[in-house]
Amino acid sequence: MELAELVARRPFPAAGLLLGLTRRCPLRCAHCSTGSDLFTREEPDAGQLAFFVGSFTEEDRPDVVMLTGGEPLLLPALVERLSTSARGAGSRTALLSGMFFVRPGGRRSRRGTAVPPAILRAIRSVDHFSASLDIHHEREVPRADVFRALHRIRDEGVAVSFHLTGTGASDPYLAGLTRAVDEEFGGRVPCLVNEVRPFGRAAAWAGAARTGPDPAAASPCSMAAWPVVAFDGRVLACCNQDTVDRRPAPAHLDLGHIGADDWATVRRRALESPVLRMLRTVGPAHLAARYGSGPPTGSYCEGCRALGGDEKAAAGARAVAGGAAGALLDLTAAVRGSREGAQGVVRRHGCAAYAPLVVTGAPLLPEGGVRAAGREAR
Ligand code: SF4
Ligand code: SF4
Repeated sequence: MELAELVARRPFPAAGLLLGLTRRCPLRCAHCSTGSDLFTREEPDAGQLAFFVGSFTEEDRPDVVMLTGGEPLLLPALVERLSTSARGAGSRTALLSGMFFVRPGGRRSRRGTAVPPAILRAIRSVDHFSASLDIHHEREVPRADVFRALHRIRDEGVAVSFHLTGTGASDPYLAGLTRAVDEEFGGRVPCLVNEVRPFGRAAAWAGAARTGPDPAAASPCSMAAWPVVAFDGRVLACCNQDTVDRRPAPAHLDLGHIGADDWATVRRRALESPVLRMLRTVGPAHLAARYGSGPPTGSYCEGCRALGGDEKAAAGARAVAGGAAGALLDLTAAVRGSREGAQGVVRRHGCAAYAPLVVTGAPLLPEGGVRAAGREAR
């Protein structure tokens, strides 16, 4: 499964599932919004994760399961178990790693960086592997070793990509890094390029939340489409890290718990909730302004979280987005969001200037910018 295929599914509610396997991570990136370190033990119960993924069926399953963290490859046997189980039902899995296993002092082979056998087995079991690289990661993991490891993983036949982060289109670091990836892999490895934002890595796969509420305008939230399994096993409708971490979870964003609920139940709640449909189609500020018990206050997401106890907003959502009409509204918004494919998703939610890189073979100008047309294969 290539990166573009995965990203193109992002606008469709419950087409994907984000699984945070652990909050632990051996790296200490300055911008880590999941607050991960080697000593943080928060992680869902492995048996409950296996139960939840085991509840997928061929008829009712997410198309894509994203394994993330923290560092999911600290649990290689669990990765293998979950991805094998998901694949049995027809889901495909993708894994995002910070590449801790290529740090200096790690095992090396004659070809360069060695991927430890248990980790390589786990990587072979997924359908897509993505490596994080940015200025903070590069302080801990050498770029050249990450590149060598990616070559090794590609040699195994696993589709790979980079998840790159910088400060924006004019960031010289990002221009240099994308050029280096292009030169190293001949334009054959796609990149998802995001701008640094105060959200977790799962959110970076998903798109950013807005900042200021604009009650007059409909401003849909794209982060309320794929359910997220948090580090305590609770399932949230949203991948904003502040919301994922908040307890109790706001009622309208709480989809259940992997210890008690199966995928079919979580998916039904995600798809059928009138409030979630309204968040995905017009956004929280518009819902609060039009139907809520008071004007929205605070940031975009603070206004959304406050909707949890707002009965008037819930009644308004039921009236507008309940039943078959609401389902159609939801689907129409998703189809609109997917019209320009993966590049359109990145243009709206990632670093727009680098959106073509989400597709393998997208072109780079010599100075690091991105051309509009396709490149010739090398
Ligand atoms: S940003 Fe990623 S790799 Fe870095 S500390 Fe956080 S989880 Fe680990
Ligand atoms: S808190 Fe609400 S508005 Fe913010 S990202 Fe989550 S679902 Fe969207």
